[in-house]
Amino acid sequence: MSHRSFRLYDTMTRQVKELVPATPGHLKFYSCGPTVYSYAHIGNFRTFLTADLIVRTAEALGWNVDYVSNITDVGHLTSDDQDGGEDRMEKGLKSKEGERFANVWDLAEFYADCFKEDWDRLNLRRPLVWPKATQHMREQIAAAEKLIETGHAYETPTGVYYRVGSFAGYGKLSGNTDREELITGARDVVRDDNKEHPSDFALWKKDEKHLMQWYSPWGWGFPGWHLECSVMAMAYLGETLDLHAGGEDLIFPHHECEIAQSEALTGKPFARHWIHTRFLQVDGQKMSKSLGNFFTVRDLVDGKGADPLAVRYALISQNYGVPHNFTMDLLRDATQKIERYRQCDEKARKAIAQPGEPNAAADVFVESLRDLYDEVLDAMCDNLNTSVALAKALEGTRVILRESSLDLPMAEAALQFLGDINDLLGIVSLDRNVPSASDTTSSVPEAWIEQKIQERAEAKAAKDFARADHVRDELAALGIELRDTPEGTTWKHRATIL
Ligand code: AMP
Ligand code: ZN
Repeated sequence: MSHRSFRLYDTMTRQVKELVPATPGHLKFYSCGPTVYSYAHIGNFRTFLTADLIVRTAEALGWNVDYVSNITDVGHLTSDDQDGGEDRMEKGLKSKEGERFANVWDLAEFYADCFKEDWDRLNLRRPLVWPKATQHMREQIAAAEKLIETGHAYETPTGVYYRVGSFAGYGKLSGNTDREELITGARDVVRDDNKEHPSDFALWKKDEKHLMQWYSPWGWGFPGWHLECSVMAMAYLGETLDLHAGGEDLIFPHHECEIAQSEALTGKPFARHWIHTRFLQVDGQKMSKSLGNFFTVRDLVDGKGADPLAVRYALISQNYGVPHNFTMDLLRDATQKIERYRQCDEKARKAIAQPGEPNAAADVFVESLRDLYDEVLDAMCDNLNTSVALAKALEGTRVILRESSLDLPMAEAALQFLGDINDLLGIVSLDRNVPSASDTTSSVPEAWIEQKIQERAEAKAAKDFARADHVRDELAALGIELRDTPEGTTWKHRATIL
């Protein structure tokens, strides 16, 4: 494990500080995912890319990362209002694009699949799990029941509400501590005369007409938006996360409410570190369909023929902590940079196959690439300073391209550099090698399965049983069963009944 420290801005303490996992070298990380009522846009992906770069940087430091990112597939009201809020799923179904879906469940599944496709195209590391809100209804109901039992919530004729006044820490993340101001302030609050206090937020809404509804101790209805992330984060990562991420609009109310729910449930801090990505604009303006500056990944890649890696490059080219402006010029510039990496890759591969004459400057070449990689990693550890990291990495491409020929040690060093940069920044080539749970089992490469079995064996040898079990579950989710025998571990496809 590297001795570098990984420093990140923490929204809670409002300062850049070292990210310190509770278990050294093992990061438990939850990042809020999309609501799948439509295609995710490139602004959403700016936020998901921050999470991706954290995962990659932590891995470069030799850490294990348990990374969970949810999929919100329940339509939530844009407010807690009795009837004023608009349900996003319902809105999606009513839209023109929504006409092709038989129901809201099909719509959610379709857009969740598209989201994963776009995720892969932009070369993001897949999380260990992409849990869906609809798969965790039982836990959400249990959490609301427990909050009622402990006096943190109450039932009304319209739903179950969190009693904000019962949690002294409310407002510690966002600084929104004045409850009176919360009501009059400019946010989407909420008029429901059944609430004890207008700032109380919904844990459950009673609604027998809602398109997605579940049966609960309070009758038919659906959960409040904030509840899913509390229960899914804790279900997969435990009561205290090392890091929790999202876009800047989630600081309040979403993450503030997650803290109130989770800490009232466990009596423990919910997350040790909080990180939020500033919004992406396009051509200096908020993205909106009516302005014609609203882009999804597929608009750019399929529609305009953009290289997905260039889209990725453009989105990460500005540091996450400042607003970013996406333009076509930026994308063109990123396309040229990606091309340089392709040239380097080609040059290094050719030289491996057919090395040039021994070069007296090889040592200097090897050392300068090594130093540049160190500087790139230093920049990433410095609060994900991507603008510096990308500039340093690009210097490496100059070092490689200016040589007329590469001897074998140079070719090896160049490939190593490009591989390391790709692991850290994901900009050299699409290195997706983990099959998706939705892939058919027959398409899972055997080499990948063997690699997973090896990983599990190593985890077991290191007595990291949680990790070993995790690998087993990951394979099981793909329909692959493991059997431990005295001769080693064997595997087979689970018989599927269709
Ligand atoms: P949503 O699908 O609206 O729940 O958003 C998914 C994630 O994208 C959340 O973390 C949002 O904060 C984030 N997000 C939404 N719009 C933008 C934007 N324009 N720039 C960056 N992040 C965004
Ligand atoms: Zn969330």
